[in-house]
Amino acid sequence: KVVVFGSFVVDLTGRTRTLPVPGQTVMGSTFVMGPGGKGSNQAVAAHRAGADVTLVTKVGKDVFGKVATDFYEKEGMNTEYIFVDEEKETGCALITVEEGTAQNEIVVISGACGNITEEDIEKSRALIESSDILLLQLEINFDALYKVIDIAHAAGVTIVVNTAPAAELPAEILKKLDIVTPNETEAQILTGVKIENGDDAKKAAEVLMEKGVKQVVITLGSMGAFAMNNEKYELVERLSVDAIDTTGAGDAFNGGFVMALAEGKDLFTALRYGNVTGALSVTRKGTAPSMPDREAIDRFYAE
Ligand code: ADP
Repeated sequence: KVVVFGSFVVDLTGRTRTLPVPGQTVMGSTFVMGPGGKGSNQAVAAHRAGADVTLVTKVGKDVFGKVATDFYEKEGMNTEYIFVDEEKETGCALITVEEGTAQNEIVVISGACGNITEEDIEKSRALIESSDILLLQLEINFDALYKVIDIAHAAGVTIVVNTAPAAELPAEILKKLDIVTPNETEAQILTGVKIENGDDAKKAAEVLMEKGVKQVVITLGSMGAFAMNNEKYELVERLSVDAIDTTGAGDAFNGGFVMALAEGKDLFTALRYGNVTGALSVTRKGTAPSMPDREAIDRFYAE
């Protein structure tokens, strides 16, 4: 059983010919609203990949909160642990994309999911303690994140942290983590090692293992993905697909990766499942809606 304790935000994406400069108003062409947030995206990816997953998150008492619950109900996901904040609004990401260049500007307001309280955590304690794998990211308030890590660590739950968005983590937290899954820039922030190839990834992974993380995965975008434990390390190449939209590739990777771990697969097999899930997600537009299902994953995995 997998528990994802993380963020939900509504992605509000507008496209425009040129990004506005401060003080300027520009006309846009299209607008799309959809479910987002790393916690939510990764939970959806794991669910579609076939894992038994429960998402713990928090929304506001507003129409965006309903976007979350409607979406999970449609996906057939458990909505029992979607807490509702009495005051804070549902988180949102204001995304502006420039048409020709695909450059973007993004403002994320975490809102309710940045306001996880002790009470919310106590209500989820039994769920966390009875899970096999807990998957976390760095988009909820850090006091809550550390508390959740403590509970899972004390209960012997396998803790996987996708250290995104990039941030440093204190040594006493890193020691409690079973697996971290940064991308190359996040790994650089955590370790100070600049990553340009597999050798650099190995160096960064060694730094993290010296700090007490048990196993390390580093996603390398178009270079593929890397994993290391205390016995060996391996770099798998990026799979060849028609890439249409790479947003959410990391989220897809993490979802596929924890699904495989939850099924008892070893680190390096899970690395391959993550790599396949990430690759399939870039062949479709969007984030959560572009997550592949188990059938597609198994078909591509077998090829
Ligand atoms: P993030 O989205 O966090 O920056 P990455 O860019 O590292 O994460 O992508 C995560 C994983 O998704 C990669 O390790 C790889 O397995 C897969 N992936 C990403 N981009 C591609 C691509 N263009 N083709 C195939 N697989 C990809």
